[in-house]
Amino acid sequence: MEQARQWRARFEEESPEAVLRWALSEVHPDIALASSFSMEDIVLIAMMADIRSDARIFALDTGRLHEETYEAAEAVRRKLGVRIEWYFPSMAAVEELERNKGLHSFRESLENRHECCRIRKAEPLSRALSGLRAWVTGQRREQAVTRRSLEVVEIDETHGGILKLNPLAGWTEGEVREYVRKRRLPVNRLHDMGYPSIGCAPCTQPVVPGEDPRAGRWWWERPEHKECGLHAGNAGGTVFRREGERKE
Ligand code: SF4
Repeated sequence: MEQARQWRARFEEESPEAVLRWALSEVHPDIALASSFSMEDIVLIAMMADIRSDARIFALDTGRLHEETYEAAEAVRRKLGVRIEWYFPSMAAVEELERNKGLHSFRESLENRHECCRIRKAEPLSRALSGLRAWVTGQRREQAVTRRSLEVVEIDETHGGILKLNPLAGWTEGEVREYVRKRRLPVNRLHDMGYPSIGCAPCTQPVVPGEDPRAGRWWWERPEHKECGLHAGNAGGTVFRREGERKE
């Protein structure tokens, strides 16, 4: 799309703050940040709150998050004075999943893992995004093989063609840490425990220094499958579809 190409050319070299300032002035309140309370997300929350104290932030409580993530969410809420819009999965869908397949079905097959991610993440995400014209993520290119070609401005066809902004796409981990240090922002304690990527507790483990940052996510799967449906375009858009609809 020509408009998207122009935005990419305009914002590729811009600072994250400039991208966010433009986006918030254009589409607030129909724009929100999706936060997992990783360092990247907390940086973006601080930047957005600087621009607008009522900038919107949402989070998905999958029911399987680490306690450290809830602590980080509360620390951010208190320090930055932001309101977090929490979304939960459908109670009926989780009850059916756990009654029929137990508590760890996601380890049994890729299909089961996608099913759990669809129920706990993708469906609540779709509700969070409905009515929005843009969303913001903390994704960075160096995080994973699935994110190497990430653009600062994307069109999210999976969610009705809304704008998807990745203002930190080109930042290194060092730049993120430096921003956190300078601003004295709260940090999810999981990062200091060897978790560069924040996800659900049973599907995330620490990585050793130098290892791929997302190696600890679904460590039993191949690298090209390591997306959860929140960023379906990164993984070929397969995760959002129900069984039988997948292209794979
Ligand atoms: S990351 Fe694991 S526990 Fe969380 S939704 Fe996906 S499969 Fe389920």
